[in-house]
Amino acid sequence: MSTETLYDCAIVGGGLGGLCLSIKLAQNGFKVILFEKETYPFHKVCGEYISLESKQFLSSCGIYIDELNLPIIKKLQISAPSGYVIQANLPLGGFGISRFTLDQLLVNEATKLGVIVLQGTKVSQVKNKNLLYEIHAENLVYHSRIVAGSYGKRSNIDIQLKRKFIAKKYKDAENYIGIKYHIRIDYPIDLISLHNFKDGYCGISKVDDNRYCLCYLTNSKNLKKNNSSIQEMEKKKKKKNPFLKEIFDTAEFLYKEPLSISQIHFEEKEQVVNGIFMIGDAAGIITPLCGNGMSMAMHASKIFAGLATQFLDGKMSKEQLEIAYTKAWRKEFAKRVWFGRQFQKLFGDPKITEFVFRILKWNPGLLKVLIRLTHGKEF
Ligand SMILES: Cc1cc2nc3c(=O)[nH]c(=O)nc-3n(C[C@H](O)[C@H](O)[C@H](O)COP(=O)(O)OP(=O)(O)OC[C@H]3O[C@@H](n4cnc5c(N)ncnc54)[C@H](O)[C@@H]3O)c2cc1C
Repeated sequence: MSTETLYDCAIVGGGLGGLCLSIKLAQNGFKVILFEKETYPFHKVCGEYISLESKQFLSSCGIYIDELNLPIIKKLQISAPSGYVIQANLPLGGFGISRFTLDQLLVNEATKLGVIVLQGTKVSQVKNKNLLYEIHAENLVYHSRIVAGSYGKRSNIDIQLKRKFIAKKYKDAENYIGIKYHIRIDYPIDLISLHNFKDGYCGISKVDDNRYCLCYLTNSKNLKKNNSSIQEMEKKKKKKNPFLKEIFDTAEFLYKEPLSISQIHFEEKEQVVNGIFMIGDAAGIITPLCGNGMSMAMHASKIFAGLATQFLDGKMSKEQLEIAYTKAWRKEFAKRVWFGRQFQKLFGDPKITEFVFRILKWNPGLLKVLIRLTHGKEF
């Protein structure tokens, strides 16, 4: 069955990219509908450390970080599997907030501005009909003038679009999985740590509600070696890093089971596919060790909202919008994503990690350069 309203923009996926985009377009006076398959608030696999580059933009979306009494994180500690450790001040720093809290705050703002938010509604198909799009969800068809795909790392829509990164065959070592816990622990408030183990790394930093987020990335090779058991993998591998051993031995774990996601890939992606404008992880994923995928998703929504406004106001054609957005996205993010990919190669093999960390400790300026190459400026 078809619905009657013609929306200016339909947004598939209500994570940070989609929610911020909906707010920006609604602020510009457009009719926006957003589809989210889950129901807010909900937890997500994410390290929950947000680079302060997005603070000003979040204020423009109605989220005032200074009023939320959040932990401000200024120091970075990274350890090799042996426990060899280096520490540095973060030039810009970040803050900690759970996705459970932040996504809910944003959806409240979007709703206040008149965005139609359809929660628990999974989009099954998007059809580009040239002058407008059809969005199929839960046996209904919606119509819009443009569509943004902000549905994250991998979705049914990617399969429908036969995207290149979906078609590729991956080795187990290239197939990443993410695991997350919320814990209570006696740990510094202003520190984000990245503790390495063979085939992966684990971040810990404080978020709201007096919790810490403990989140790690490893590959499916590692999981398979441990009979596909997360518990076994954690016992054998991560406990080899003395910092992780202490965290796992002393923390109070607040979920019965960890949250997990699989099939994470860091392949290059296209920013516009079949006329759908990709925002956030759907446009390109930065390796989590860089700690700014969320800021990138928000920044992309700001860039796209500006350009889409010109199209919706009749100042730009669809073709011009496609070219302008692709160009702007690549200019802002392509290098960062590439450096993140190269940087991640230095992690995973304990001998290489140890060697690199010794060089970085000896030359702290180099670590600052690496941080700069993978981060952006305030936007
Ligand atoms: C292990 C790990 C740790 C990380 N740690 C950090 C960190 O500390 N700091 C940082 O900045 N970044 C981190 N990131 C990256 C960060 O999580 C992402 O970059 C960010 O969430 C991207 O936002 P998004 O809006 O693109 O997608 P998401 O936040 O993933 O949102 C996508 C939404 O789309 C919905 N959806 C999907 N398909 C459909 C459909 N068909 N119909 C309707 N809805 C749909 C999903 O339910 C989801 O809510 C980490 C990533 C991983 C894997």
